[in-house]
Amino acid sequence: MSLDGTYDPDNIFAKILRGEAPCARVFEDDHVLSFMDVFPQAKGHTLVIPKHSTARNLLEEDPQILSPLILGVQRVARAVRAALEPDGIVITQFNGATAGQTVFHPHVHILPRWDGVAVGRHASGGMADLNELKDLAEKIAAKIA
Ligand code: 5GP
Repeated sequence: MSLDGTYDPDNIFAKILRGEAPCARVFEDDHVLSFMDVFPQAKGHTLVIPKHSTARNLLEEDPQILSPLILGVQRVARAVRAALEPDGIVITQFNGATAGQTVFHPHVHILPRWDGVAVGRHASGGMADLNELKDLAEKIAAKIA
């Protein structure tokens, strides 16, 4: 899907938001949901998504949704740092399939990095074990301030 198109209410993140698909939940407030990426590029790869969005990417998003989204990203990224003590954290998002986007509901990646540890391939590595992701999610959730 390119930058143009129609929001699909049955995309996987919309299903997670409706409770129709499982996730290892890290954090939730009125505006955002955060959960572990099921094809992690690194240990602790976490996603933050807006709960009330029908945009497909950041360019289409309502500014009133973007503001609490970035605050949620900072809050979760701080918890990832406190829980996992990485050497750095990549915070990123993709717009359009050509740019690497594979799920067309706005979302931000929080990707911890450690010196000397290579990052995995985007959205195409192995699927992580849900119980292991839940353990990680609990560790991160415990550090949410
Ligand atoms: P994008 O490629 O759109 O930037 O990011 C989508 C992300 O969602 C990818 O990193 C991919 O691994 C992740 N993902 C895809 N399907 C699922 C799923 O069913 N559950 C979770 N937790 N993550 C998913």
